[in-house]
Amino acid sequence: MQKVSVPYEIRDNRLFIQELNWPNNCVCCMDNNVIEKYELHFIVEKEATNTDAAHETKGYPITWNIPYCMDCKKHVERKSNLLYVLLLIVGLLWAALGYYIFQIGLAENTFAIILFVISLVVLLYFAYQINRLLLRVFLKTTFKEQCSNKDYAIEVSSQRPNIFFSFYNDKYAKLFLAGNTH
Ligand SMILES: [Zn+2]
Ligand SMILES: [Zn+2]
Repeated sequence: MQKVSVPYEIRDNRLFIQELNWPNNCVCCMDNNVIEKYELHFIVEKEATNTDAAHETKGYPITWNIPYCMDCKKHVERKSNLLYVLLLIVGLLWAALGYYIFQIGLAENTFAIILFVISLVVLLYFAYQINRLLLRVFLKTTFKEQCSNKDYAIEVSSQRPNIFFSFYNDKYAKLFLAGNTH
């Protein structure tokens, strides 16, 4: 991982930073067939130095368009919407089971109630395993050997007077540094 720092300034409550030059390769795998952009949002935190700071904005938001290839954008944006769907199915199954127990007249039966509670744990366990399995299959199709990180290939932080870009891909970091130093 390589860190590149870019200086910024705050003047009249505004953030000033040089226009950044993003080399046109995928920031994750260096593929030069880049047709996607990924919006990277960052907030440069305001220092609480003056007394009326509470009335002002919390920080200075800034957005960069990071070049990503299609595959890498997919593996970065894999969100577990899937998990929510699975949890919904679990909820419905569990409710159906509860209704069934009520229907066959076992709602007062302690043993049936204990089984009912245990069944939720079992259902959740299955949902978790299915989610893991599907994610692994999904990652296999989008994650490549050249990829630098399964998650975002870049991390941003700041400390006055610099913003730091940490790249998982060292080759990209070098290009970025060369393209942004004058
Ligand atoms: Zn890529
Ligand atoms: Zn990648």
